[in-house]
Amino acid sequence: MVSCVSILGSTGSIGRQSLDIVDHLGIPVAALTAGSRVEQMAQQCRKYRPKLAVMATQEAAEALSALLQDLDMRIAWGEEGLVEAAQIPEADCVITAVVGMVGLKPTLAAIRKGKRIGLANKETLVCAGELVMSEALKYNAQIIPVDSEHSAIFQCLMGAGEKREIKRIILTCSGGPFYGKSKDALSAVKKADALKHPNWSMGAKITIDCATLMNKGLEVIEAMRLYQLPLEQVDVLIHRQSIIHSMVEFVDGAVMAQLGSPDMRLPIQLAMTYPQRMGTPAEPLDLISCGPLTFSQPDMDAFPCLALARACAKAGGTACPVMNGANEEAVALFLKDEIGFYDIYRLVSKAVDSVPFIQDPTLDQILEADRLARLAVN
Ligand code: NAD
Ligand code: MG
Repeated sequence: MVSCVSILGSTGSIGRQSLDIVDHLGIPVAALTAGSRVEQMAQQCRKYRPKLAVMATQEAAEALSALLQDLDMRIAWGEEGLVEAAQIPEADCVITAVVGMVGLKPTLAAIRKGKRIGLANKETLVCAGELVMSEALKYNAQIIPVDSEHSAIFQCLMGAGEKREIKRIILTCSGGPFYGKSKDALSAVKKADALKHPNWSMGAKITIDCATLMNKGLEVIEAMRLYQLPLEQVDVLIHRQSIIHSMVEFVDGAVMAQLGSPDMRLPIQLAMTYPQRMGTPAEPLDLISCGPLTFSQPDMDAFPCLALARACAKAGGTACPVMNGANEEAVALFLKDEIGFYDIYRLVSKAVDSVPFIQDPTLDQILEADRLARLAVN
C-alpha cells in the first residue's frame, strides 16, 4: 500500500472519490489541486491539511489564500503548481484526476520522480502514451489504471503469463444515454439529454464523451498504450449493465473478466493498495439482482466518433493528440449549447484532416498539435 498521496483534481468526481478512499484507508495527503472551486478546496484543505494546495489560476489561488490564512501551507497555481504537486517529495503516489491534456506535464513530472501513478486522466495516454510509458519504464514508476475498464484488464492480467498469451482485450461499453437511438433522433439532442448517463455519475466532459462513444475511442487508445497492443487486439463490446468492467481473451480461448458494482472507488482503491486487496466502502455485487448480462456490437454509424478514434489510433503520431485536443474544445462548445451533437464529430474530424500530421512527434510537437487542433475547432 502507498504511504502518502497527492491528488490532482481533488474537487472532481474521481478526486472526491479518491478522498473517500483516503478516509477509508487512513492515508495522509501531501498535496491537493483544483480548478476554480475555491470554497470546496478550502474545506478539503481544512480536513486533510496538505502541505501544498494548487488552483488553476492566480485569482483562485489568492481567493483560497484569503480563506486559509490561519493554516500553515503553501498555495500555488497554474501548470507550475500542478507539476510541484506531482513531484512533492512526501507523496509516493499521485492520483491524476484532472480532466484533459492539462494532466500530461504533471504526470510526466511524477513519473520522473519514480512515483506510483493512479492514472484516471486518460487524455494523457491518448496524447503522449508512448512517451509516458517509456518514461515510466525508465524511471521505474508504476502506472496503475483507475479507469474502470483498464483496471479490469489490469486485474485480469494480475498473475497472468506472457503478453504473447493475450489474444485480445474486450473493452465493455455501457452504450451511454443514447444507446439504440437513430442518427435522426440524435441530431436534435441537447446537453441536458447527454448528461444523463445510465450507470455512472461523472464529470461533464467524460459524460459527453460517453454519449458520443468518443470515451470508448479514447479508451481503445489508452488500452493500446498501457498494454502495448496493436489496434487489432482491442475490441469494444456493448454491455448495458456495466457489471463486467472488461475482459481479456487468451490464446487458448480462456476469457477472464472482472465484475463488480459500478463504483469507481474499487479501482481507485486498488491503485493505492496494489498488490494488496482490502475491503472498500463500495456495495458488494449482487448477481441475483443485477439482472441478465447482455452484449451487442456498437453502432458505428450512429456513433462515428468511435470509428474516428480507431482510425486515429491506427495512424498514430499526432493524429491522437489532434483528435483529443479538438474533442476537448468541441465538447466544451457542446456544453455551452453552442453546437449540436454531430458537430462534435464534424469538428474533430475536420481538425484531424487539417492539422499537419507528424509520425514520430516529440513532446513539443505533441503540444503544438494539440494547440493547432484547438484552433481548428474555434
Ligand atoms: P471532473 O470534471 O469531475 O473533475 C476534474 C478535476 O480537474 C476537478 O477537480 C477540476 O477542478 C480539475 N481541473 C479541471 N480543469 C483544470 C485545469 N485547467 N487545471 C487544473 N485543474 C483542473 O472530472 P472527472 O469525471 O473526475 O474526470 C477526471 C479524469 O478521470 C478525466 O480524465 C476522466 O476521463 C477520467 N475518468 C473519470 C471517470 C469518472 O467516473 N468520473 C472514470 C474514468 C476515467
Ligand atoms: Mg472508463
